[in-house]
Amino acid sequence: MDYHAFLSQFPDTYIGRGRTDRREIALTFDDGPGRATSALLTTLRECDVQATFFCVGEKARRATDTVRAIARDGHEVGNHGFTHRDLRALDPRTFWMTEVLPARSLLEDVSGTPVTLFRPPFGEISPAQTGRLAEEGVTLVGWSIDPRDWDEVEAKDHTGRVVRHVIEQVHPGAIVLLHDGDEGERARPAIAEVVRLVVPALRTMGFSFVTAGRLRDAR
Ligand SMILES: [Zn+2]
Repeated sequence: MDYHAFLSQFPDTYIGRGRTDRREIALTFDDGPGRATSALLTTLRECDVQATFFCVGEKARRATDTVRAIARDGHEVGNHGFTHRDLRALDPRTFWMTEVLPARSLLEDVSGTPVTLFRPPFGEISPAQTGRLAEEGVTLVGWSIDPRDWDEVEAKDHTGRVVRHVIEQVHPGAIVLLHDGDEGERARPAIAEVVRLVVPALRTMGFSFVTAGRLRDAR
């Protein structure tokens, strides 16, 4: 989210990447739970990777078993708003009361874990809304690598393109933006395969995998 210059005014609240002196990176998965999430959890278990899932409240409400499975596997549950729409037009109070807080309450109830991270839908947020998150002690999480895994999913080499993008861009403290939630009516069958290929490649490069919360706490 480099394009939001105002976020630099909130260094305690906003994290767009972790420390540069440790070869630790965070995989993050947005917009779920979706139909691809269970297969993704299996792959993450096989790869022994802990990740962060930014869940949408209204989807989580319909897929509570999946949210519980995410937490049970030791992953971090983050908040991606209740309805996944562009929230910038909302005043900070409405933003908090109708989107951030209801999704957080639901995700905490279902997962049994504290939900301290928020990623706004489309990465879009206003300065006043960011101020409200700061008052509430919520961490706003951006990303430093966006392989656009939602783009041209029908292309023959979609999976390879996404994997190569991450490997070419990887850096210490990277936060990688990926998606497990359905795209409209479509699932995301490629996401588990992306993870299965990218994790060993990054390990060979000396990187290890932590949650976004760990990157924040290590700052
Ligand atoms: Zn999203």
